[in-house]
Order: sequence, then C-alpha cells, then structure tokens
Amino acid sequence: MTRRNPNLAKLQGGYLFPEINRRKMELLERDPAAKIIGMDVGNTTQPLTPFIAAALSRYAAELSTPEGYSGYGHEQGLNALREEIAKSYYRGLVAADEVFVSDGAKCDIGRLQLLFGAGATFAVQDPSYPVYVDGGVIMGQSGDFKEELRYFDGITYWPCTPENNFFPDLQTSPAADLIYWCSPNNPTGAASTKLQLQELVKFARTHRAIIIFDAAYAMYIQDPALPRSIFEIEGAREVAIEVNSFSKMAGFTGVRLAWTVVPRELCFEGGEPVITDWNRIMTTIFNGASNIAQHGGLAALSDTGQAEVQGLISFYMENAALIKGTLEDLGVQCWGGKNAPYVWARFENCSSWQAFEHFFEKAHIVTTPGVGFGPSGEGFLRFSAFGQRHDVEQACERLQKLLR
Ligand code: PLP
Repeated sequence: MTRRNPNLAKLQGGYLFPEINRRKMELLERDPAAKIIGMDVGNTTQPLTPFIAAALSRYAAELSTPEGYSGYGHEQGLNALREEIAKSYYRGLVAADEVFVSDGAKCDIGRLQLLFGAGATFAVQDPSYPVYVDGGVIMGQSGDFKEELRYFDGITYWPCTPENNFFPDLQTSPAADLIYWCSPNNPTGAASTKLQLQELVKFARTHRAIIIFDAAYAMYIQDPALPRSIFEIEGAREVAIEVNSFSKMAGFTGVRLAWTVVPRELCFEGGEPVITDWNRIMTTIFNGASNIAQHGGLAALSDTGQAEVQGLISFYMENAALIKGTLEDLGVQCWGGKNAPYVWARFENCSSWQAFEHFFEKAHIVTTPGVGFGPSGEGFLRFSAFGQRHDVEQACERLQKLLR
C-alpha cells in the first residue's frame, strides 16, 4: 500500500477557511434566511478596471489569429513584463533577469520551500499568513503540533503583537535558516518601518539567514516613509528573496499573476547562487504564467493601469477606514487598516473563536479568528476590507447595534 506523506498528518484541522465555511453552511441549514456578510477572506470583490480588462481581452483575441497566436513562453515570464517590473515597480533596484513571473505568490511560497528542502529551519512572524507554516510542515521542516500551545515543534515563532509594535526583539530572538516576513502583514495589517527592516536585514546577515519577504500588500502602503520592498534596504540583496503579486494590487486573484525576485548576490552556505537553483525549479515544475494574464500585468504597470489600480486600492482602504472607525467608536482596540486592507481587533477576556461565534451568531458577520494565524493571534479577530461597500456599511450598522 502507498503510505501517506506523514507531514500532511501533522497539519491541524486543515486550513482555517474550510472550518469557517463549515460553520457558515451549518448556520444556513439552521436559518436559510440568514443574510451572512463575509468579512473574513482576503478575496478581491471589485471588477477588473477598464484599461487592464481591455488589454486582457485584446490579447485573448490576438491568440485566435495565426499571427497573434503563441504557445508556451519562457518559464521565467515575458521579457517585457520582467523589464517593466524591474523598471517601474522596483525603479531599478533589481534587474529584469532577477524577476521570475509566476501564477501566484502562494504558489511561489510553496515552490520556495522546495528550494530549501526538508532540512531547513524557519522563523515566522506570529501571527502570519498560514501558508508559510503549513507549507513548511508539508515540506518536513517542522516537528509535531503541540495542541495545548497551538504551535509546531521546530518552528521559531516570533510574537508580533501590539505590545512590541508588531516587531520582535531581535536581540533575544532565536535565528533560523529562513525568515518569512510579510509587510504589510496579513493578518495584523502592520507595515514595517525602514528602521525595523534595517534591523531585520542586519539580523539575517549576522545569522546568515535568508529572508523570504512577502510584499503582496505593498501597494496598500499609504505612508510614503514606509518601504514597499525589502530591496529598499541596504544589504538586502545578499539576504533576501521577495515575493509579490498582482492579486491584491489589480484584482488578479482569479486572473493569477505574481512574481518573485531572487537577487544574483544571494548565495547558499557553500557559495552557490540561489538564483540558479530557483531557475532550475521554475523551469522544471512550472511552465510559465498565462500569456493573457501577463499582458494584463503589463497594462497594470502602465501609467493608465497604475491610476486604475490606485482607484481600487483607495476603494478598499475606504472600507478599511469605515470598519476601523466603527470598531474604535464602539471601544474596540484596533490596529492595521491604515497601510493594509486588514483591521486587527482585540477582544478582551474571550478567545478568538468565542469572539468569532459572537459576531457570527448574533450579527451573521463572518470574521477570521486571529488564533488561526498563530498562537499570538489568540484573542484577536481579523476584519477584511475586501467587500462591496453596501455590505461593509451594513456590517458596520450591525456592529453598532450589537456592541452599543
Ligand atoms: N501572500 C499573502 C500575505 C497573502 O495574504 C496572499 C493571499 O491572501 C497571498 C500571498 C497569495 O497571493 P496570490 O494570489 O498571488 O497567490
């Protein structure tokens, strides 16, 4: 008989969202008329913008002509798109051939784990996007799950809470081979300052660790003093990889387009360049991002596309301000929502799941229990600003009725 990958058995209760969906189904069975408002998932809701949508359609139509047809492209992506990302997004901080275009930041995070293999140890912000931990567990980079403490043995959790301004004390933090760092952070909405990222890079250089910097929400940063890329930090090219995406920037959650930057200076312990192995992985198990999506990406990075993208981002950030304002008026302590589309709310004297149940049962509002993102998320809920305006407004009214 074929044996199950034992690492999969270590994953607890599956991914967070299937459990939330199970509860939604259960409620609808009990009360089919319930008008549930989802403030849980980070899925975009606004339609694609006209200029970008036209570029996608135009290229799809071109593919239906003999002259315009193209099959497989370069696994690393269209040269024009790699160049545009290097030039307009990074303003020359990275080179086009260091940019690897892909079908998603989540997929790239999974493939990056292949790059380092089962022997690598890793540190994560606690709480963090569950894919870092779950992916590492599947890869065999952890021990077993400790039910009572809600963490996996062998993984270094760096608590990032309001008490430490969402940044660990690196003087006392244990190191690991890999450091996953997400800024602006999902779920807390905390965006790291330049000083914090300088400290992080210094730490990685001292411990010869590699930072996997997830910048999927970088375009949501409103404060111009906050870095949008780890490569804005001096010395990062020797210690960091950056993952980024068109998903939250341009509403490409369904279109699928992302990229990863691996600088040429980044090397393994033995001096081998990481970029060579990344190229090998991408050319072996990936066959290039959709050519239609890549033309949409090119449009998104143009001046007109960027103006449209800013409109989308402003819309979601207005949602975030509405949610945060409502909760704060009701005396709930909140963070995030300023440079990220997530509001991180603390509920004293109750667990995340108890708080979740309260809003779900009493107001039919779905949130995400903070503990699902790591042990330090206990007692918090994440409110997502991705949603239709009328839903957000209605959710705020329900919150006012419930908490007043
Ligand atoms: N990184 C973070 C921090 C996310 O929150 C998400 C999606 O929610 C992703 C990556 C996934 O991005 P993509 O749609 O490009 O796979």
